[in-house]
Amino acid sequence: MNQTADVIIVGGGVTGLLTAIHLKVLGVDKVTVLERYHVGSGQSHRAAGIVRALVRHPLVARALAESIAFVKDFEQRFDDPILYHPSGYLLLTDLEQADAVNDSISAAAKAGCEARQIDAVEAQELQRGLREDDETLYVYEPGAIHLDPMPAVQAMARVAKRLGVKVIEGCEVGDILTHGGKVTGIESAQGRFEAPTTLIATSVWGAAQLARLGIEVPVYPHRAEMAFFHVPTTDDFRLSRIVSDARSMLYLRPEGDRQMFVGWREGDRVHGVDDMDDEEPDHYKQTADFERLAAMQRRLAVTLPPMDNGFVHRTYACVYDYTPDGMPVLDRADSVDGLYFALGFSGGGFSISPWVGRSMAQFIVDRKTPSQIEPFELKRFAEGKLIRWANVGKSASTEVDSD
Ligand SMILES: Cc1cc2nc3c(=O)[nH]c(=O)nc-3n(C[C@H](O)[C@H](O)[C@H](O)COP(=O)(O)OP(=O)(O)OC[C@H]3O[C@@H](n4cnc5c(N)ncnc54)[C@H](O)[C@@H]3O)c2cc1C
Repeated sequence: MNQTADVIIVGGGVTGLLTAIHLKVLGVDKVTVLERYHVGSGQSHRAAGIVRALVRHPLVARALAESIAFVKDFEQRFDDPILYHPSGYLLLTDLEQADAVNDSISAAAKAGCEARQIDAVEAQELQRGLREDDETLYVYEPGAIHLDPMPAVQAMARVAKRLGVKVIEGCEVGDILTHGGKVTGIESAQGRFEAPTTLIATSVWGAAQLARLGIEVPVYPHRAEMAFFHVPTTDDFRLSRIVSDARSMLYLRPEGDRQMFVGWREGDRVHGVDDMDDEEPDHYKQTADFERLAAMQRRLAVTLPPMDNGFVHRTYACVYDYTPDGMPVLDRADSVDGLYFALGFSGGGFSISPWVGRSMAQFIVDRKTPSQIEPFELKRFAEGKLIRWANVGKSASTEVDSD
């Protein structure tokens, strides 16, 4: 017999799980999450897990502020902890970015998050060994956090199940079924599921799934690399803050006591589709290319000179779901009633997932686009209303707020 649900969510990453949780909070009875491997096995378990609100776009800043609060309140609200580190976020950029920095500080402040310009002395007190020169502008957001993404995903899955969500792993979804212009369910490795509403939350895999129904979303695969670096074994240097450096084009955060997670600020080099490293999301090289890794190591020593003596511990790569403006598509299909999608997070989907989950749940329940996600509708690309949140149209060496 076919299984039934009120809402089917395809994809058990942070987007799918947090939408499921919020649907239950809003009182939806039967919510089913179908994940082809194990929850978090897509991009979600690979994230740096950095959540900060210092961005220029006021709506994005509000979304990020909501997400920080959600993570901090998670245990009290759902009786299950998301472990996070209150490490604070240090941004290093060039003096000519002062206006953009001031905009970002004021957007964060309006969203309820403190961020302030600091001098080199305070920056060194916050993070010993940071690069120092007369041309650098330092900004600090004390409330920013980082977390290990996989325990967080597991906490979300536990809470979803406790609230009554059916989370089915090892369940690859094939066709999305429609009849008379309405979604009716899906075919999967575990049989047919019937539901009047389906959310596609499958990041880089979602565009092809939607294309089979004639729905074109401009979400492109883009391969991104990261590495864990170990601090020098000869001294007691440690990384204790999240750091994002426009000059080196790197972001970093602590990993345990003696390592750091280092990634490229992809937004500094991806300004449009031509800059994307097109990659098959199921078949790509899983480790960083040597040349780029060597460049990352050199640049890391620019941001943190003591890391000149550090070393690569291990690397991995991943395929982002990139859109032309680096912001997600949160919408429903015009041509298929009941079919929703949330994808295209462009390397920033972990941090806004609590806000996305709440917004998509509200969208599904009300069947009306919530005002906060109107700017993220699919039609913005056809209408040329791209979201200029941080990186679009700026020179690579002077970006202030992307990672
Ligand atoms: C190196 C790196 C660092 C990052 N750092 C950050 C960060 O610090 N902050 C931040 O905000 N973001 C960060 N991100 C981005 C973030 O990880 C993603 O944007 C976010 O996890 C996307 O979540 P998602 O649930 O939308 O997608 P995913 O986690 O990819 O989940 C989609 C799921 O769909 C499943 N799926 C696909 N097809 C099917 C199917 N046919 N049937 C069933 N299931 C299917 C997949 O298996 C997958 O589990 C980083 C990403 C990487 C790679």
